[in-house]
Amino acid sequence: MACIFCKIIKGEIPSMKLFESDKTFAFLDIQPLSYGHSLIIPKHHGAKLTDIPDDQLHEILPVAKKIAAASGCNDYNILQNNGRLAHQVVDHVHFHMIPKPNEKEGLGIGWPAQ
Ligand code: ADP
Repeated sequence: MACIFCKIIKGEIPSMKLFESDKTFAFLDIQPLSYGHSLIIPKHHGAKLTDIPDDQLHEILPVAKKIAAASGCNDYNILQNNGRLAHQVVDHVHFHMIPKPNEKEGLGIGWPAQ
């Protein structure tokens, strides 16, 4: 299996893991758009959202919520791109959680220190 995210799930490529269950895996993005930029993925391999069975997706948003709350950041984007025209590069479904730190307060204290 050449999929880089499947290799991350299996531990064949290192990652900064934030969450794992039988269906779901979450880790820090290697090229973060902001501090705490995370990816939440189904373990089931599929390139696009429509390739993933419903029962493999149920935990995704609850995990995104947990990570957003742990980031201590009140402002954030959840993004999920499908296909080249939508700027998808890695062909394993992934949801970005991108904190938007407040310039005054930065990230809250919930997130592990750098
Ligand atoms: P998008 O347009 O949603 O960013 P991509 O397919 O380009 O679509 O997103 C893939 C994301 O995966 C990128 O943000 C990239 O930095 C991240 N990424 C790629 N390889 C790794 C890796 N080995 N570990 C962590 N994140 C990775």
